[in-house]
Amino acid sequence: MAPATPNNSKKRKASELESDDLLGNVHKSRTPKQSMKKPEHHTEHVDGSPNFRVYCPADPEDPKQQDAFHSEVTLAEGFRWKYRIEPKRWGDIKSYKNVKLQEQTFSTNDIIYVNRQDIPPAPPSENLTEKELLEYDQKNFWVGKIIQARADSDKAVYLLVAWLYWPDELPKGLKKSYHGDGELILSNAMDVIDATSISFLAEIDYWPEFGDNGETLQQTPERFWRQTFNAGGYDTHSRADQSHLLSNLRTYCKCKKQQNPSKRMFHCSNKSCKTWNHEECLIEEIGRNAFNAYVNGNIDEFAKEHEPSMTLGQRALQPVKALAKRIEEKIEHALEDGLEAVKEETGIKMENGTGHGNGTSTTSKVSGKRGRPRKGAWEQNLTVTLSNSDADKPLVAVIKEKIGKQRSWEVKVDCLLCGRAMD
Ligand SMILES: [Zn+2]
Ligand SMILES: [Zn+2]
Repeated sequence: MAPATPNNSKKRKASELESDDLLGNVHKSRTPKQSMKKPEHHTEHVDGSPNFRVYCPADPEDPKQQDAFHSEVTLAEGFRWKYRIEPKRWGDIKSYKNVKLQEQTFSTNDIIYVNRQDIPPAPPSENLTEKELLEYDQKNFWVGKIIQARADSDKAVYLLVAWLYWPDELPKGLKKSYHGDGELILSNAMDVIDATSISFLAEIDYWPEFGDNGETLQQTPERFWRQTFNAGGYDTHSRADQSHLLSNLRTYCKCKKQQNPSKRMFHCSNKSCKTWNHEECLIEEIGRNAFNAYVNGNIDEFAKEHEPSMTLGQRALQPVKALAKRIEEKIEHALEDGLEAVKEETGIKMENGTGHGNGTSTTSKVSGKRGRPRKGAWEQNLTVTLSNSDADKPLVAVIKEKIGKQRSWEVKVDCLLCGRAMD
């Protein structure tokens, strides 16, 4: 059957058209001819609903690929790919810049949510939290960027989309701890899908990460992408780490690792440093140092040595007094408890640092029975949280004892690179 031209359809749908390049009223309720599947791995190509297959990357010189439409697309800066679509007929179908679907207009380069199932999901309940809404979206939708829109008629509208992956959709080993909530990874895995499978327009922005001067701190969009994935390079047979298929991200902190935007970082205001410190790295450093002091019975001295400076503004005077009082109380507590009690609670013998616990303690929170404190071992005895809630106070770490009297201490937080106290 010869495809109807968009001109024919215009006659019937003129009232719904908004411009020459806008195609009207695609019926969303229509069930796609074939269920559309997103490729789990790029090597397994799955038919798009209109029987077009997309190969990316593709060699346009390949003589075996005659019945194919060849083109190139820049999906992101430095992420340009040659691809081909079979059969060649793809290139003969009229292309449009915009598509109208159920009162929403979709344009090339828009990012869209695509129904995973033929039957669209029941709408989410209105009082979902952001986290629940994210789970709902991840469960029900794929995410694609519209590269081209073409139509045989107003009832046969096809979209060439490049997929963005939720981190959980990435092939094994490529989901990283730095991937944040609401993060997507733009890939060169492409498909032609039926426009009826669009759910709605996605508000997913490119996010350029943090600058050196502290700008855009904590302003990560709820949904965003910052990284690309060369899905076409993924080899399901190779066991080698294929992390190089993910584009490089900025690294921060003394640990020189990427940042998970769902977690906090703290910027050093020292002009010759300007390092972003991961919250977890700051906490680990303070926790370990505090724990050393703790098991040696001199955590109160440690807290005093690392007392937060209170020179910022007059309102800080009050907290100083309060803090002094608290420190006094803590010293009293410490004297009461004594070093032996601390040793007993932590189960660590301090004489040589490699001894074994006495194993007689009755608390389940006891740790360190295997000897020398390991990385993170302090976490079983202490908690450390960073607080910058008071604008007049510098950043402070609150150290709390998990066992015994559950005492707490407040100490300053030093930049891991230059050592200067963070404000
Ligand atoms: Zn770090
Ligand atoms: Zn610094």
